[in-house]
Amino acid sequence: MNKLPIINAEKPLDFDFTSLLNFAAPIYLDNNATTKIDDDASSAILKMLEIDYANPSGMHKAGRIAQEYISKARLDISNFLGCLSSEIVFTSGATEGIVTAINSSINTQKKKHIISCVTEHSATLNTLKHLEENGYIISLLEVDRNGCFKIDDLNKLINDNTALVTLMAANNETGTIHKNIDSAVAIAHKYNALFHLDAVQVAGKLHLKPYIDMSIDFLTISGHKLHGPKGVGVLYIKNNTPFQPTIIGGSQENGRRAGTENVPGIVAIGVIAKKNPCFRDTVYKLHEKFITALSLKIPSVIINGGGVPGTINVGFKYVHREAMVVKLSLNGVYASVGSACAKGIESSHVLKAMKVPQEYINGSVRFSMSKYTTEEEIDKAVGIIVNTYNDIRKLSIGIIS
Ligand code: PLP
Repeated sequence: MNKLPIINAEKPLDFDFTSLLNFAAPIYLDNNATTKIDDDASSAILKMLEIDYANPSGMHKAGRIAQEYISKARLDISNFLGCLSSEIVFTSGATEGIVTAINSSINTQKKKHIISCVTEHSATLNTLKHLEENGYIISLLEVDRNGCFKIDDLNKLINDNTALVTLMAANNETGTIHKNIDSAVAIAHKYNALFHLDAVQVAGKLHLKPYIDMSIDFLTISGHKLHGPKGVGVLYIKNNTPFQPTIIGGSQENGRRAGTENVPGIVAIGVIAKKNPCFRDTVYKLHEKFITALSLKIPSVIINGGGVPGTINVGFKYVHREAMVVKLSLNGVYASVGSACAKGIESSHVLKAMKVPQEYINGSVRFSMSKYTTEEEIDKAVGIIVNTYNDIRKLSIGIIS
């Protein structure tokens, strides 16, 4: 039996809370929220914290070495994206990249209209809401039952006052891939508007070079979604794109993002980029296996959207998603109700926009995989999910059917 910790304010807590959990190894299927750090990235972080920790702005040798590490990471990231290293700006994560691209576009284009989509991440939607409250005009594209926008709708919304079109490559809740990004970029440019792509949920899963080749102006990725640490990201800015920084201060990042660089984080994502991750094929096998096995055992499930390997949004009929996620956690499977940034009991704005039927919308749960997910875990997870669903349904029979 595990002993519960005795709380003593004078002594720090010396207790392993994980031993309270009554299952051996939980199966982590919440990789769209964040991923386990890559082993080599983790070693690189420690090295940068313990040995090469100097400020890269330092004029001494140690400062030069830290600067060299950043340059190397910039080169590795640019190879990963298929762009020039001068087009890479390190940020604190995707939220900062998105906000910077939006702010820069309205300031440089001197126009008041922005187009995005109803299913975007809250980093985009709340930034646009704030701008709307301050006099900007925001248009959001609607989506169909699969979560895709229609290019004709973009044609109808865009005008000469449009400063920016900002869209995600794939949705974080459902994995739906927007297939007509190339046409959207062409339309934006026809109206002298800039184009930003939130590529957070495709980085490491699909190749990014095809997006760069579409001549997009900005692209954002986040370190912690591809086995890097939290608090670091990359903003790609196409050369010669008019740009104004959002974070102003020192001259770091060539004047495009002030503040002492997060050297350990930057080096870590450089290490990951060098491995050129794209686990599309391996994860896709697990993805298919999961859907086939689950649909066989619970024929009433539906899959909401889909496209990115490893992101599966399952609609369970007549259960509540919070109950499912909490009970799944107790049973040893970590999943999610949707976006990590949109906590609360409000139904998902993404599923609502996709008009997911009412009997499924409150019972939709996201399972997301990574390069560390194994076939054995998928087999086990499906069994646990089926039992959990059946247990919850037994409790509610006669109340909801
Ligand atoms: N965009 C998408 C599609 C995301 O999934 C996320 C994180 O969940 C973000 C942006 C924000 O990323 P970060 O946590 O790096 O700020």
